Amino acid sequence: MAPHGHYVDGDWRTGQGTATFESRSPATRERLGEFARGTPADVEEAVAAAEAAQDEWRALSYIDRAEFLWEIYHELRDRHDELGAVVSRECGKEISEGKADVTEAWHMVEWAAGNARHPHGDVVPSEIAAKDAYMRRKPRGVVGCITPWNFPVAIPFWHMALALVEGNTVVWKPAEQTPYCAQIVAEMFDDTGIPDGVFNMVQGYGDAGNAVVENDAVDTVLFTGSAEVGHSIAEKLGGVPGRDVVLEMGGKNAVVVTEEADLDIAVHAAVMSAFKTTGQRCVSAERLVVHEDVYDDFKARFVDLAADVAVGDPLDERTFMGPLADADQVEKFREYNALAREEGVDVLVDRAELADGEIPDGHEDGFWVGPFVYETDYDPDLRCIREEVFGPHVALIPYAGGIERAVEIHNAVDYGLAGAVISEDYRQLNYYRDHAEVGLSYGNLPCIGAEVHLPFGGVKKSGHGPASAREAIEAVTERTAWTLNNATEIE
Ligand code: NAD
Repeated sequence: MAPHGHYVDGDWRTGQGTATFESRSPATRERLGEFARGTPADVEEAVAAAEAAQDEWRALSYIDRAEFLWEIYHELRDRHDELGAVVSRECGKEISEGKADVTEAWHMVEWAAGNARHPHGDVVPSEIAAKDAYMRRKPRGVVGCITPWNFPVAIPFWHMALALVEGNTVVWKPAEQTPYCAQIVAEMFDDTGIPDGVFNMVQGYGDAGNAVVENDAVDTVLFTGSAEVGHSIAEKLGGVPGRDVVLEMGGKNAVVVTEEADLDIAVHAAVMSAFKTTGQRCVSAERLVVHEDVYDDFKARFVDLAADVAVGDPLDERTFMGPLADADQVEKFREYNALAREEGVDVLVDRAELADGEIPDGHEDGFWVGPFVYETDYDPDLRCIREEVFGPHVALIPYAGGIERAVEIHNAVDYGLAGAVISEDYRQLNYYRDHAEVGLSYGNLPCIGAEVHLPFGGVKKSGHGPASAREAIEAVTERTAWTLNNATEIE
């Protein structure tokens, strides 16, 4: 069978390169499909198509543009379970999370298409009586979207849905680990009959992503992925007039458990935050900062659950943790586990190599790991408690003193994406809310979860502004002041 191609200017194209790449399930290594590997020349064609389509797309009303997205909304809902299973097969998330990825996608499409009924702009009084002034919004032009594999359906819609409703055309470079999900999303756009060139998708690796970044005709780059790549994009585009960039990157997130915590809530929040999606959410917690008064109880309960957490076939509803996404993730996880040992921590649970019988039959070639949990006193020099691993690698860090000390440890990393506090004391909750250096914070909840109408994004090295909800409008539109003379006579 010929490899699946790119979607450019309303056509499926094999592209200018000859190289292809495969998608394989991380649980079984089953081959899911073969895909053309996009080249910088393919990206250039896609950008040219997006530029050429702008006038026709802008000429449509908000409502008419949103109609194409409503079709996708219905398809995402109708095919929810089927697509959820595809997500699970391709990126290894357990099935309820695979379905949740699709749910989040339709939430975002619904929110963005719903926005078409209340376009944003302001009437502003002019300082001169005989003038009317308005703040109007115009689309930025071509929006380049570069997305990661861990939410292969939801994050692309976080990037593209509002950008399209606001009148931009898009060029999307999906993650190389999840081209099958990307193919399905592109087929959905094709089915809507959206005008040629409005939506373009080029499959491929970092060189294709880089071609999106380096193309001056791309007015805004929306990037979600690793800090390493995001910071390299910031170096290229940061401060370039006329070219905007929004970066959503990783974290070294923490859950703080104070001496006033309800330990049932604390243990539940810690397990969910550390092990959901096998620790591969940008908001996953790799640090648990626990007050010394409750430390022993908390540790005993958390360690028991970590030793027992069900690792297995992502399509089996009894599974809590699927495999890691690829061989690179496994290598990185094991390297950081080894680093933690070298740095002198006390290992409490080491299921990095699963025991015989833990890997389901027929899944022996998958990228299987289990939790790796350790304890250490806080030490700012330890790399294992400062750097993002992106796997079920978790540090328990006891603290003494007040909430101020917990938040000091919580904030002592370069990242600032997400964090949670567990406490029954409102003063501690408020202190954490006001002083935690993160974009997303949770009280008495796991450090996971997103609602599409709330801002989502980090501070410090995790990002610079939420490309979601109302705030995303800033990224995909430009403001223009329009002043109109309404004097009846020329003075
Ligand atoms: P990644 O940075 O390796 O890849 C992300 C995307 O960038 C992919 O499409 C990739 O092909 C592309 N890319 C790679 N090199 C590039 C380059 N030089 N120029 C342009 N594009 C390039 O990240 P990943 O491994 O796919 O995803 C995991 C990371 O994403 C983690 O660090 C995680 O925390 C982060 N993440 C952040 C959020 C958030 O909203 N803050 C959400 C999900 C994931």
